[in-house]
Amino acid sequence: MANLQGGLYSSNAQVRRVLKVFLQVHECKVCGRFFTEIENLGSWKCTYHPGTWDYVKRHWTCCGETERKNIGPNSYLGRYFQMNPQERLNMPGPHSKGCMRCDCVSKYKNPVPQSAVALEDIASIIPQMSAHGKPLQERHGIEKGRKPKIVRQECCPEIFFE
Ligand SMILES: [Zn+2]
Ligand SMILES: [Zn+2]
Repeated sequence: MANLQGGLYSSNAQVRRVLKVFLQVHECKVCGRFFTEIENLGSWKCTYHPGTWDYVKRHWTCCGETERKNIGPNSYLGRYFQMNPQERLNMPGPHSKGCMRCDCVSKYKNPVPQSAVALEDIASIIPQMSAHGKPLQERHGIEKGRKPKIVRQECCPEIFFE
């Protein structure tokens, strides 16, 4: 953990407030990982489906993935037949969590924008990022330009949609 009290920006209340938000611990509603936004931002450790679930064809429009439907001791429906109740927790759901990478999404209220974060808004904490995960330049989703930002999910080109 970086020394937050004696840092370069310690006299600046605004910077401390931003840092406090980015050091708050969240639990991911998709994968259950515990994370802080200063580490999570642009690290793309989670997955999602950019498409939608087609209820008629019963597959994802993005990747064509279908349900896991086989019934057996290790399948989704097979969870009812486990002898050991603790093993039920290990059963995969009928759908995978996703086919593209993205940042983790908190179960709880989170003031950090979910789709993209402007670097301008987090400029003061950029030097701290390498102490919590990867340095900024090694993170995913950096979009350069007049207003550089970090996009929080891998984008699926339209051409792959049906
Ligand atoms: Zn997909
Ligand atoms: Zn996650």
